[in-house]
Amino acid sequence: MGEFDLIRRHFWRTAAARADSGGVLLGNGDDCALLAPAPGMTLAVSTDMLVAGRHFLPDVDPQALGHKALAVNLSDLAAMGARPLALTLALAVPEPNDAWLQAFARGLLDLADAHGCTLVGGDTTAGPLTLCLTVFGEVPAAQASRRSGAQVGDDVWVSGTLGDACVGLALVQGRHIAGGAIDIDTAHAAYLRQRLERPTPRVALGLALLGLAHAAIDVSDGLLADLGHVLAASGVAAELEVPALLAGALHPALQRLPLAEALSAVLAGGDDYELVFTAAPSQRAAVQQAAAQAATPVTRIGRIVAGPPASHALADGAARVRLLDTDGAPYALPPGVRLAGYDHFATIGA
Ligand code: ADP
Ligand code: MG
Repeated sequence: MGEFDLIRRHFWRTAAARADSGGVLLGNGDDCALLAPAPGMTLAVSTDMLVAGRHFLPDVDPQALGHKALAVNLSDLAAMGARPLALTLALAVPEPNDAWLQAFARGLLDLADAHGCTLVGGDTTAGPLTLCLTVFGEVPAAQASRRSGAQVGDDVWVSGTLGDACVGLALVQGRHIAGGAIDIDTAHAAYLRQRLERPTPRVALGLALLGLAHAAIDVSDGLLADLGHVLAASGVAAELEVPALLAGALHPALQRLPLAEALSAVLAGGDDYELVFTAAPSQRAAVQQAAAQAATPVTRIGRIVAGPPASHALADGAARVRLLDTDGAPYALPPGVRLAGYDHFATIGA
């Protein structure tokens, strides 16, 4: 199968499939795609690269891989409050394996269709298995929730539950937690695996929060690390109420874990793709209403306080978070909690 046949067969969106896709004037098949955000909207653009052996195992289920590759990109649009319009896909595959490509394309395109996001182009080459996706969305520029927008006095909110994907990864890898096999029943294990392999990008919530969220980020590297990016960019600090986090953002599947493990997962587990955002306390009811509209639960977990000036030092962020107990006293972390954010360069794969 030649390169062009491969593209035609798996990655071509017909005119019919594109008929209702707002924002796309011309899709794949030409030298460029043509995109047109609605009047008054700005293009939001984000790229992610996934390399076999580093970001996923080469034998991963290709349909799940297709889903996740797009989900993590849509999650970036969600964090900005952007509506997905289109994506491009650059793909290196060692050899054209038709069954693999078909499953991969299904995982990718099913999620793309669910979000009205059209595959409009890309590039395909032979090489070590690598995916590079770029997503395009539209957002009113003034309302895009930037990392630098957090204000002293804001509430800090998080969507859904945290730590699921990292415990799911431990399960998939057969790793033991806290010296013993993880005590999780079958139904919960299936849920955790789903959270790891088929994350739900919080696009509806991001859109519903437009004009409400001052700052937002998606949790890909862990709550402390990612909230830290917001704090550093905004020149502020945060106080998080650990009991509120455990009460609202810990899935029942994690509630039987030893406390140190649950805390490690919730505070530092990556790959959940939930949104962390800040909003004025006067907007609490509006935030809850937006969450209900998006059918996505949210939990208020703390507040923004004054902090050092904005900084670009990447390591600076998490140090701006203070963990508090219900009474406002510093939270006494149990021994064994691991709080380092996931660092891609510290875990170089095969
Ligand atoms: P060019 O030589 O102009 O770069 P290519 O031969 O690489 O064009 O690709 C032909 C057409 O197929 C282009 O419109 C391109 O966007 C599209 N295309 C190539 N690879 C992919 C892919 N993996 N997914 C979607 N479209 C693709
Ligand atoms: Mg090309």
